[in-house]
Amino acid sequence: MATEKEIVVSGIRPTGYLHLGNYFGAIRNFIRMQEDFNCYIFVADWHSLTTHPDPKDLPGNVMRVLAENIASGLDPEKAVVYAQSDVPEIAELYLLMNMLAYVGELEKVPTFKDKVRLQPQNVNAGLLTYPVLMAVDILIQRAVKVPVGKDQGQHLEMARNFAQRFNHRYGNLFPEPAAFNYGDSLVRIASLDGNGKMSKSENEMATIYLADEDDKIIQKLKKAKTDSGTGEPGAPMPESVANLITLMELVSTPEVVKFYQDAWANQTIRFGDMKKQLGEDMVKFVGPIRERAKELQRDTDYMHKIMKQGAEKARANASATLQEAKKLIGLKYY
Ligand code: ATP
Ligand code: MG
Repeated sequence: MATEKEIVVSGIRPTGYLHLGNYFGAIRNFIRMQEDFNCYIFVADWHSLTTHPDPKDLPGNVMRVLAENIASGLDPEKAVVYAQSDVPEIAELYLLMNMLAYVGELEKVPTFKDKVRLQPQNVNAGLLTYPVLMAVDILIQRAVKVPVGKDQGQHLEMARNFAQRFNHRYGNLFPEPAAFNYGDSLVRIASLDGNGKMSKSENEMATIYLADEDDKIIQKLKKAKTDSGTGEPGAPMPESVANLITLMELVSTPEVVKFYQDAWANQTIRFGDMKKQLGEDMVKFVGPIRERAKELQRDTDYMHKIMKQGAEKARANASATLQEAKKLIGLKYY
């Protein structure tokens, strides 16, 4: 008997240029998951309005995020790929789910408190209810698994709470989604300046974007923080050097990685050479993704076609859930 693949949902906010952290921390897993699961991967455009409400940037950001995911190997024929705002059923279930969310619990969410600190001039209600919308993104497709980075654990916990509350009050409808990661997949890509992680919204020169041209990539790596070397064979590897080795492990051959690990161990390492080698290997890795993403963004007919196709599939599944939810709530009159 053929068994249905389990449903997985994941989203990515169109708030800037995708970078190596997004690639190795998220997109690479999407590409693996699309073989093993029934994946719903969406561009979280409504979510981006809580912090990035600029109509000049939004359409371009959405297209680029989609194009970069597809250029990286996300296959719209295998995964359902869509824009959140193309699925109005999400908004309707979000309204209904807000009745099951308590202001007190939402005010306590650490990411909400962070945002209050970061943008005190714009503490909108969307920020407060962000976890409700995120829960609905997941629950409306009746996902059983959600890939989560370490920072998103609490949101998933809340999604499970909302599912339970709904099921308890109205009847069993939503599976409680579980966190999921491939065993070896939780890489964290550090910022090249040694401050935190690569990120869409921080130091541009310390983050390598999938859209960076070759010379930019080489220039950024040349400026990456390294150690001066201690002259002591066997000295522990400082974080800045370990971070470069991590990048090498992702884009260089095992021989190259071993060469530089050994070179550190016996203190013959030349950081100029190391960065040059990493630059070449990184360019080989990013270059084809960047060029393919550019082509896709020029092919608006194709992009619109896959968005419509994804929205149709996502809506069909979402609509079935929404209709059942409304019936259970008592919102069906004829
Ligand atoms: P922002 O600065 O706007 O928060 P971001 O760069 O942190 O953007 P997100 O949209 O928050 O990116 O995250 C998208 C996905 O990429 C998440 O799954 C997150 O865990 C992953 N991710 C982001 N940055 C890194 C990183 N440096 N290393 C590994 N994974 C990352
Ligand atoms: Mg982030």
